[in-house]
Amino acid sequence: MIIKYTNFSDGIHQINLAEPVEKLGFSDQFFGLVDVVCRMDKSIHQIVIDCNINVNSKTICDRCTSEFISKISTQFQMTYIFSKEHHLSDELNFRFLSTEDDKIDIGKDVKEYIQLAVPMKKLCKDDCEGLCPKCGINLNEKHCDCKSETSNDVWEPLKKLKFNN
Ligand SMILES: [Zn+2]
Ligand SMILES: [Zn+2]
Repeated sequence: MIIKYTNFSDGIHQINLAEPVEKLGFSDQFFGLVDVVCRMDKSIHQIVIDCNINVNSKTICDRCTSEFISKISTQFQMTYIFSKEHHLSDELNFRFLSTEDDKIDIGKDVKEYIQLAVPMKKLCKDDCEGLCPKCGINLNEKHCDCKSETSNDVWEPLKKLKFNN
């Protein structure tokens, strides 16, 4: 994903980029296009980009194990500073550009920010019912009789105590 900034005058520009997920090195988990919209603020000394990323993901639900499709949206900001000497920045959102450069490649950053945006807990929906621990049925689709066997009586443990004594 390349922005050839020498094609742009100083000032603010909107840049739309889209590339197939495979081109960024993604395989199974994502599909379609990685969609990136950047606001670029270019001046003599630096370039600041604010990018919004959208991509479709295909995930297995942690609770009910069915595959579901969701949209991952994330954003990042990056500042590139023009420099005569060759510097390497160890800061996350800072890079240096040599005066001979004419473009920036945001592919690696886009990939990284997508990976960071993937939620730790993957649920097909917030109130996913999951699978029945007894018969394994997907409780989002069907209901089984196993549930009625377990008592919801909060006094149950106490009753048992009583009987045991
Ligand atoms: Zn689920
Ligand atoms: Zn069941």
